Amino acid sequence: MKISIMTLFPEVCSAYLDESIIGRARKNGIITVEPVNIRDFTLDKHNRVDDAPYGGGMGMLMQTQPIYDCYEELCRREGRKPHLIYLSPQGKTLTQQRVKELSQLDSIIMLCGHYEGIDERVIEEIVDEEISIGDYVLTGGELPALVLTDAIARMIDGVLPNDEAKSLESHYDGLLEYPQYTRPYEWHSKTVPEVLMSGHHGNIALWRRHKSLERTLLRRPDMLERAELTKEDRAYLEKLKSEGKADGE
Ligand code: SAM
Repeated sequence: MKISIMTLFPEVCSAYLDESIIGRARKNGIITVEPVNIRDFTLDKHNRVDDAPYGGGMGMLMQTQPIYDCYEELCRREGRKPHLIYLSPQGKTLTQQRVKELSQLDSIIMLCGHYEGIDERVIEEIVDEEISIGDYVLTGGELPALVLTDAIARMIDGVLPNDEAKSLESHYDGLLEYPQYTRPYEWHSKTVPEVLMSGHHGNIALWRRHKSLERTLLRRPDMLERAELTKEDRAYLEKLKSEGKADGE
């Protein structure tokens, strides 16, 4: 998997990408993530990449030329046109399902906007998909691109220390994760649920599944409509509902 991030602020991206799980995966060659400075491609003699919007209005817009030339160069280097995602508050809201699908691609380019956004014509010409990370507006596309990169990287085999772990996490199979505990056994008079101390793997797995279902029912009932549920899961949910209990111990 190769991800190129087209941005005016490559250092902002590198600060995150060099660290922790992604930093290690990059060092080990499991994924390639490369911030690319759009400003390096401007033909303006003052290095400008933005201008005022036609029709007036506040702020500046990123111009077509540096973005298009940067994109062309990335396509030339790769010898193909990678899937291009523009991070935008006007895009489809990101989901774990879309993250899983994107993690199957060999190559992705992410385009980060700034200022008031980007001249519409270059969006029409090169963008395959617009993705939003939520219904709010940020200053630039760098944080959304890092969010998307991080989420995709976690889906790639070898990136996480334990590949199985990701399938148990919230959203992977349409449910929220069960509660978790670590040492000490007792803290502020609260103890760890006994089943977790039992060493009985079957009972622990069942307890975790039930907690996952309870949490999702209580906090995100909308997710249950799309989750992959077994007959036993459905029966357990019906039982919870009939008891009027959404997060019982
Ligand atoms: N004028 C634009 C609008 O109203 O749709 C917003 C521009 S915003 C200030 C600047 C850039 O930040 C956008 O071009 C986009 O790349 C990024 N951005 C802001 N909010 C975002 C979000 N919720 N999801 C993804 N990208 C976002």
